[in-house]
Amino acid sequence: MAKNWFEKSYRRTETTWHISEQNPAYFSKFDPREYVDLLLLGKVETTCIFSNSHTGLSHWPTKVGHMHNCLKGRDILRDVIELCHNKGISVILYYSVTYNDWAYENHPDWRMIDMNNKGVKRFYGRAGVCCPNSPYRDFAAAQIRELCEMYDFEGIWCDMTFWTTVCYCQHCKERYDKSIGGEIPTRVDWSNPKWVAFQRKREEWLAEFAQLLTGTLNKHKAGASVNHQGAAFTEGRWVARGASVELARQSDFMNHDFYGNAVNQSFHCKLFSRMGNSSHFEYITCSYYWVNDYNKLAQFPMAPVAATHTEIKPLHLLLAQTYAAISKNGAIRFFNDAHPDGRLNRTFYERMGKAFEQTKEHEPYLGGTPCEDVGIYINFESGIDFDHNGRPAIEFPELENSWQSTTEASINAAKSLMNAHVTFGVITKASLANLNDFQILLLPNLLMVDDDEVKALKEFVVKGGVLYASKFTSLYDKQGAKKQNFQLAELFGVDFVGETDELFTYIVPGADFKKIFGDYSYDWPIAVNGTQLRVRPRNRVQVLATIALPYTDPKDTRNYSQILSNPPGMYTDEPAIVVNSVGMGKVIYAAGVLEGLPIDSQREVLLNILRELKLKPFKITSEAPKAIELSLFDQKEKNRYLINLLNFQEEMPNIPVEGVVVKLSLQGKVPLDLVEVPSMRKIDFRKKGPSISFTVPRIETYGAFLLNYKNVNQ
Ligand SMILES: [Zn+2]
Repeated sequence: MAKNWFEKSYRRTETTWHISEQNPAYFSKFDPREYVDLLLLGKVETTCIFSNSHTGLSHWPTKVGHMHNCLKGRDILRDVIELCHNKGISVILYYSVTYNDWAYENHPDWRMIDMNNKGVKRFYGRAGVCCPNSPYRDFAAAQIRELCEMYDFEGIWCDMTFWTTVCYCQHCKERYDKSIGGEIPTRVDWSNPKWVAFQRKREEWLAEFAQLLTGTLNKHKAGASVNHQGAAFTEGRWVARGASVELARQSDFMNHDFYGNAVNQSFHCKLFSRMGNSSHFEYITCSYYWVNDYNKLAQFPMAPVAATHTEIKPLHLLLAQTYAAISKNGAIRFFNDAHPDGRLNRTFYERMGKAFEQTKEHEPYLGGTPCEDVGIYINFESGIDFDHNGRPAIEFPELENSWQSTTEASINAAKSLMNAHVTFGVITKASLANLNDFQILLLPNLLMVDDDEVKALKEFVVKGGVLYASKFTSLYDKQGAKKQNFQLAELFGVDFVGETDELFTYIVPGADFKKIFGDYSYDWPIAVNGTQLRVRPRNRVQVLATIALPYTDPKDTRNYSQILSNPPGMYTDEPAIVVNSVGMGKVIYAAGVLEGLPIDSQREVLLNILRELKLKPFKITSEAPKAIELSLFDQKEKNRYLINLLNFQEEMPNIPVEGVVVKLSLQGKVPLDLVEVPSMRKIDFRKKGPSISFTVPRIETYGAFLLNYKNVNQ
């Protein structure tokens, strides 16, 4: 099978088998023939089967590790692979890395060790975690080599390629001492260059570990694909992760298991589609529910406490999640627990089959280049929070980042854009050469930037881009050094002075900008639950809003103006939001994290700023209800646009939406005809100048339309 087999495989499943060997009945009823029959019932094109699990027990007759006793020597991998291939189903082997309890128990030297010198176990102490800097790495590589030599498969999925916690094992200590010098700090401190250097090393070491496994696979099974589970890129918590562009390069396409809502899914699908070696990606989610009260359980910080083994999601949710993935040209993978004795849940396969029966009708029309107006630019170095400084490293798996961190603010900005039907992409350094694909870039509190980013961002603006940046953006380099001024000061048109002492502040609208600030006013300004930076405007910048502070500093509990709140009392003339013109472009700088605030009227201010300052019309717009997500792809080789409308509501099943008007701006293209797919029903549209508009009568979960066009010069 060709290495890019995955680009045409949208329907996938995974059979989850984190099963111990404590009961001889386990695995006894697994029947590979029944399994493959169920895969056919489920209409899947690709299945992911476990070659090992977090138990570390190998599901094949390994010479390197320990084969699961309950299999009694049965080579189920061989049987399943052969039967799947006979039916045209691709096979991915699941391989759990770092989470390997067998290796942890048998090789104490391989254990990940926390700062209190305790071995790290997850999932209620069920899964020991091994350090990628220990000789465990050679064990994992040897097992992958063995799999490559023994079996024929389309790919390997390395689950858990991330750090889990800050490791203080002997191997990490030695590498730290060799490369940075001295002892690993035990307190988080983003103002300490040694701590920041350590984080950069953790990223480097993780990418190196992934490279070892990817290299092993490429060497011994050249035609197969490899993925590393993408948690390092998605969770926003620096401590466990270690994301880097280099780590992303070790996967043929990006994937990860997610448990979030429509916004979370959209954000990460977009992130993955633009940062991997392929624009194809895989969105993995469970077929059941997690019990989501893990915040209460300190010993279980990294994942939900329990999967509801026997529950199956309803058809409408399976459909919405599948459409959400394919509408961005990615695959979906639903994973389902097998019973420990090997029996399988027929209801799941039946229900998935019903969902896939519908969604597969859309597959012939998918693909193309995403047309997006706004790019949310993130980098992983900035996914930190200065408020964490001084705390012991061991506290961190439990802590969420604050709303001001670049990750949280980015997802919040994505929600604002999605609800307003402004198309957006999520981009990283991997897209630095293509920034001009977007007319607007958002830099949400992007603390750390490097020279490459500074150069590319400057070029983007000079060539006519609109850039929005907030708060600390570009004040630090990636080694953690605080600069005297923003590295992008020339673009912002302001110079850094300091930060307000007050943790609660206000953005006061200028009198001439009612169109942007709506009902906010001098007396009733925008409330910011956070500090703002104090900046000095350069000549010629336009000040849209200024900073007001509370009557008293909220930290002073004895002096206050109001018991329940911190009303504005000290109005300054220091800018809160400015606009600067640079070259052919424009730059908006906000001294607070305006885009991080999850209040609708504040979201509207951000959107108004973008609407007012954009230099070109948005490519696609609609007045549809918030739950509808619009996306647009240009299928240039076929001279047509694919227009997707996804209805994915918070409360399911969806309430169908009727009479949605969609407007498309067609610069340089003449519209020919518009059809709904897969029905191929013709849809009327109205042409007005370079735009067309049409009405979608009704959307249950998903509507897709093809607009055939002719280029003006054709
Ligand atoms: Zn270690």
